[in-house]
Amino acid sequence: MKASFDTIVLGGGVVGACVAAALAELDLNVVLVDRGCIGGQGASRYSGGIVRLYDPDDRIQALAVHSFGRMTDTPVGRAFASSIVTTGVYYALDERPADEALEFGRDDEADIYRGRIVSRHAAFEATGAVDPRGDGPVIWEPGGGYGDVRASARAVIQHLRRTGTVLENAAPREVEDRGDSVVVHFDLGSISARCAVVATGAWANGLLPGHPTVARSIPMVRMHCGRNVPTPVIDTGAASYMVPAGRGFVQVGSRARSEADGPDALGYDDDAIVADACERLARITGQPAFGDPVDIVRGFDGYTGDGRPLLGRVGEGPLFAAVGFSGIGYKLAVGAATLLARQVERALRGGTPSERETELCAPFDPSRFHAVRAGARQVPEMPR
Ligand SMILES: Cc1cc2nc3c(=O)[nH]c(=O)nc-3n(C[C@H](O)[C@H](O)[C@H](O)COP(=O)(O)OP(=O)(O)OC[C@H]3O[C@@H](n4cnc5c(N)ncnc54)[C@H](O)[C@@H]3O)c2cc1C
Repeated sequence: MKASFDTIVLGGGVVGACVAAALAELDLNVVLVDRGCIGGQGASRYSGGIVRLYDPDDRIQALAVHSFGRMTDTPVGRAFASSIVTTGVYYALDERPADEALEFGRDDEADIYRGRIVSRHAAFEATGAVDPRGDGPVIWEPGGGYGDVRASARAVIQHLRRTGTVLENAAPREVEDRGDSVVVHFDLGSISARCAVVATGAWANGLLPGHPTVARSIPMVRMHCGRNVPTPVIDTGAASYMVPAGRGFVQVGSRARSEADGPDALGYDDDAIVADACERLARITGQPAFGDPVDIVRGFDGYTGDGRPLLGRVGEGPLFAAVGFSGIGYKLAVGAATLLARQVERALRGGTPSERETELCAPFDPSRFHAVRAGARQVPEMPR
């Protein structure tokens, strides 16, 4: 006897977990399948989890604003946000952004969400970690902060464990696209559904041929700095960021990165990673000896050619994509999941999207790359 569902979600990183939870909220019969632990593999395992709204890509920013909104008015969003510490975020720029770029305040809580320009001196006074002598403005986002990505992923599926099905440590051997349904084969049996969402992060290529994503390393260096940095700091001039990692520790982004077809093939040049992170930390803070390196966090994510995720139905078939979150998937996960869940619901039950949904989803439509062919896919291997 084969178990059958409305939707199979493949991949239980923070994105897949949110998608599965959002589908269950629409009363769909959902199974979430991960080869490892929900939230405990892939990019979500390593993520720094900064949440913020300002983004130089206005379509990404619109999706982030949508995400913040859903964090207060949906159960999946509230569960997700339970792990976020709202500390505010400082974002140092080379040039002042257009005023309208900062008008992302929500009507009801505009003050906490709206970004404001503050002086470098004020940002230094508040953090001790922004170079007061640097050039360019600083955006202060009081509603931003950072979350525990693993906890968010697990929090959103608590309800799904009762209303749907969660299969952890479940390794699919083959994913078969039958044109009007999907069958996932395991060692001893299979499950089927009318559609499936591929949310396998940097392991997407084997499952979505023709929709290229690449795996890119995202190394961070954990530094002991002997003081508490209260908020995340992003600095576009230094092309880096730091995120608090407990009392006296920060994690600093390194640009010594690599790219490959999948995560297994990524290289990490430890010396280059550490040297680069130290140099960037000195640039962010203006203090050459701000922190001492302790170790390297060897993260990665799936990237698309334009830095925007692939979100939506793949052609007219039963597959939907929620991959390619390009290093910013935590802040987008709830918004992307709620939009994608509505698309899946319409495919199953009919209905028309609102103008706002269409506008929000259009820039992320997988069709901007290539069409996909029906057939069986070999599942790419994952490191243990
Ligand atoms: C160091 C680092 C810092 C980051 N900082 C931030 C930040 O500050 N803010 C932000 O917004 N984002 C940040 N990100 C990005 C963000 O963490 C990712 O975009 C997000 O976690 C992606 O989630 P995902 O669910 O798409 O993928 P993943 O978390 O990679 O999950 C994919 C899942 O699919 C599973 N899987 C793979 N293949 C299969 C298969 N065939 N069958 C079943 N399961 C499968 C894997 O086991 C895994 O659990 C950071 C990432 C890293 C690495």
